[in-house]
Amino acid sequence: MASDPPPALELDGVTRRYGGTTAVDDLSLSVDEGEFFTLVGPSGCGKTTTLRLIAGFEAPTSGTVRFGGRDVAGVPPEDRDAGVVFQSYALFPHMTVAENVAYGLNFVDPPGGVSEAERVAELLELVDLPDAGDRDPDSLSGGQQQRVAMARALAPGPDVLLLDEPMSALDARLREQLRVQVREIQQELGITTVYVTHDQEEALAISDRVAVMRDGAVEQVGRPRDIYRRPASRFVAEFVGDNNVLDGEVRAVADGTATVVVGGEPLSVGLADWDGGAVSVGDRLTVCVRPEALSVGGGPNCLTATVESAEFLGETTRVHLDWTGHELLLRTRDPLTGEVTVGFDPADAHVVARHDHM
Ligand code: ATP
Repeated sequence: MASDPPPALELDGVTRRYGGTTAVDDLSLSVDEGEFFTLVGPSGCGKTTTLRLIAGFEAPTSGTVRFGGRDVAGVPPEDRDAGVVFQSYALFPHMTVAENVAYGLNFVDPPGGVSEAERVAELLELVDLPDAGDRDPDSLSGGQQQRVAMARALAPGPDVLLLDEPMSALDARLREQLRVQVREIQQELGITTVYVTHDQEEALAISDRVAVMRDGAVEQVGRPRDIYRRPASRFVAEFVGDNNVLDGEVRAVADGTATVVVGGEPLSVGLADWDGGAVSVGDRLTVCVRPEALSVGGGPNCLTATVESAEFLGETTRVHLDWTGHELLLRTRDPLTGEVTVGFDPADAHVVARHDHM
């Protein structure tokens, strides 16, 4: 029987320490061929260090990094077959755009048997800057400069593309445009990509799979939809999107639904997607309900709350409610004030985890 091919990229128990700081802590993950894989997490959680360990700019204190099943310990960055794009554009200002892209070909022949000029033209076409070859990098917008940086990284035809916060210097609208373009380029090439961002919305929008990192370790890996709908910890529930995260105690369990008492009030919570073992009376659970799952007017769960403040966001208004001393977030199109009744479908509540403290 043929065995599965090894993952395109693999980190196996990788730790990286700097003196007393553990930047990456016994981290294991694998990225499939052609996958767009994103590392997301708050500042200092070890995303950039992980990317630098993959690129070969850093060596692990312990653990193994593999490309296509091959241990790359001691293999320098230029021999790892990875193209890297950094946060700052890092284009050479004294070279034209075409010369910048061709720089990626200084040490290797263009793939596919084409000439250097043909390869540069191919890449500028790919990043949708076919006529920019003779321009100075300075004359391009930030987003265009990052596309040139991508073209340069891709010119030698690497197996893997590594992107470290490539959009962080751009304004919000440009970031949204560029992330669509980055995804299109990645899909056109089918290139295995590891992308680092602190922006959870960007991570959800662009990725096949996301690893949410915390304190040098992976907290949860999954498809964007699963990370959003079924966060595996309080940290993920609170980091990814707006959420209402509540701690309570189980009073009853029947027909796939638990009655969880929070702040003295019983809430019905569906257990259909809970895979953390049998739920019994007295268990302490952490439950989340997304703001968009709360609707005004009650329902199976009827909560009486008071409007504390509201932020008008255009499409919706984000309303902060006080309910039995808990802050609840709700999204609505109608203005709300004073006392309101809100509810949610038990199936829209998700048990995040068990918790031992109340
Ligand atoms: P950010 O989003 O702020 O870039 P990050 O998630 O990419 O953060 P890292 O840059 O990987 O995090 O840093 C992880 C931890 O390791 C931090 O505490 C950082 O201060 C520390 N660290 C990283 N590089 C070094 C270094 N060269 N020397 C000492 N400490 C370092």
